[in-house]
Amino acid sequence: MKDINPKNIDFKKILETMADGITIQDKTGRIIFANKVAAKISGFTTVEEFLKTSTQEIVKKFDGKDIIGNAYNLENFPGRQILKGKNYAEDLVGFTYTKKKTENWAIIKSTPIKKNGKLELVINVFHDITEEKKEDQQRDVFMAMTSHELKSLLTSIKAYGQLLQKRVKDVNNLNYLVRLDNQVNKLTSFILDLLDLSRIQAGTFKLNKEKLNMDNLFKDIISDLQITTINKKIVLRGVIGKEILADRSRISEVIVNFINNAIKYDPNSKKINILLKKVGDLVKVSVTDYGIGIKKSDQNKIFNLFYQSNSNNSRKEGLGLGLYLSKKIIEAHGGKIGVESTYGKGSTFYFEIPITS
Ligand code: ADP
Repeated sequence: MKDINPKNIDFKKILETMADGITIQDKTGRIIFANKVAAKISGFTTVEEFLKTSTQEIVKKFDGKDIIGNAYNLENFPGRQILKGKNYAEDLVGFTYTKKKTENWAIIKSTPIKKNGKLELVINVFHDITEEKKEDQQRDVFMAMTSHELKSLLTSIKAYGQLLQKRVKDVNNLNYLVRLDNQVNKLTSFILDLLDLSRIQAGTFKLNKEKLNMDNLFKDIISDLQITTINKKIVLRGVIGKEILADRSRISEVIVNFINNAIKYDPNSKKINILLKKVGDLVKVSVTDYGIGIKKSDQNKIFNLFYQSNSNNSRKEGLGLGLYLSKKIIEAHGGKIGVESTYGKGSTFYFEIPITS
């Protein structure tokens, strides 16, 4: 290798033959270089054809989607973010070609090349993960079938348990049966969480939106949860007073998760406050507890997958899945989720979604 002068290496040829797709944009966003793989991922058979097509026309060739299946917002495209001044951007994008109806998935990573601090070029690398996605989708089908089986088995275990609850007279035994029923409920919601996780990762997560009366939904959820929450009062304030368009079971999951966490991570105080508000075109929901709170440094991490803070000795049962799924559900509704917390004093978890999300 010693006698190879880097000046003599044909870098253009290397870029052309790379396994990843590469495009180079000038500072106006025009694509001035593309290799074959990039042309193919973008739905073209030749590089020449790709290069002579305007960006607007290229975009029309396919429908982009994000990881949870929503229409892709082109403003988030990594290359665009670099043009707007970022130093690095990456995203996972699904491309469905309008004509062929085939689907490709790619991780796109973009970086700027600057001269004297000014943007000159944008380099976009497209790593095709269509095959991996197909495997994810097969796993999703497997997960869906397995969890369907598990759910029906659990339904009959639950039914037998409830039947026994009616027959058993002894208080101790009855107590065991109530506990059995609680564990079955937990297992069922755990299976549903795993199924959602697998769908999010396979890009097949979908919402089932319907007209939803949030005020009634909250009353139902709270009266259910209050039955098993003996030493805390769950207080509901405020009204929405309007139906919204949302996925009932998924929004319920988020609410139940917030309230269950408020119970889990607040061992001493006697109440949980829930506030419902309509702010313009948004519905805002917040759940406040007066428990252990979350350190500032942990607050943006708790929505990550499998994240469990141990700085607050909060290691309780669970997997660190709940808030991750809640975030995905709220984002899929076009909303926002967050937390305000003072360590040692308590936390307020909130979400807001558009009324017609
Ligand atoms: P899990 O509760 O199963 O661990 P979550 O995703 O629901 O998973 O929560 C992630 C982490 O966030 C928890 O492990 C806990 O450390 C922290 N957390 C969540 N809710 C609260 C709360 N109300 N108060 C304090 N910490 C919380």
